[in-house]
Amino acid sequence: MNTCIYCKITSGATSAREVYRDDELLVFLDPSPVNPGHCVVLPIRHHASMFSLEPSLRHRLFDLAFRLGRALAKHPDSDCFNLHHAHGEHAGQAIRHAAVHLIPRVGTDGFAFGWRMLSRPANEGEMAEWLSQKLQNPVDDGDEADEIETADEEDDEDV
Ligand SMILES: [Zn+2]
Repeated sequence: MNTCIYCKITSGATSAREVYRDDELLVFLDPSPVNPGHCVVLPIRHHASMFSLEPSLRHRLFDLAFRLGRALAKHPDSDCFNLHHAHGEHAGQAIRHAAVHLIPRVGTDGFAFGWRMLSRPANEGEMAEWLSQKLQNPVDDGDEADEIETADEEDDEDV
């Protein structure tokens, strides 16, 4: 049995206010929004991670997200937005179904992400080089480290 909350929304088993739907993607209003108009953009088929999406679908998803952002920035009750994606538990991914959140913002909304500003790391050159090499090596795209599935998610594949 699939217990994924987002799959229950994409299948219609749980209601949510839909904004957009096509064969592959769904946008709905988050039922517990950070601000009114907070949208969730996700693939209809269950994917625990963005990395298991076909690149063309991942591109479509992010394009749709930015189109939503443009719309939210023009809404009478907001003038800008945050785009948020969490990959993995420690990044705050509470639901193991890949999704992007679009949060409309206005100066008086009282919400803050709580960024911190560490000192510039002494080894930042090593990090930059390591990342640069990863970006130049397409073989790494979709490797095992990208996956965050858990044992109970094999059941979710039968959706
Ligand atoms: Zn799901």
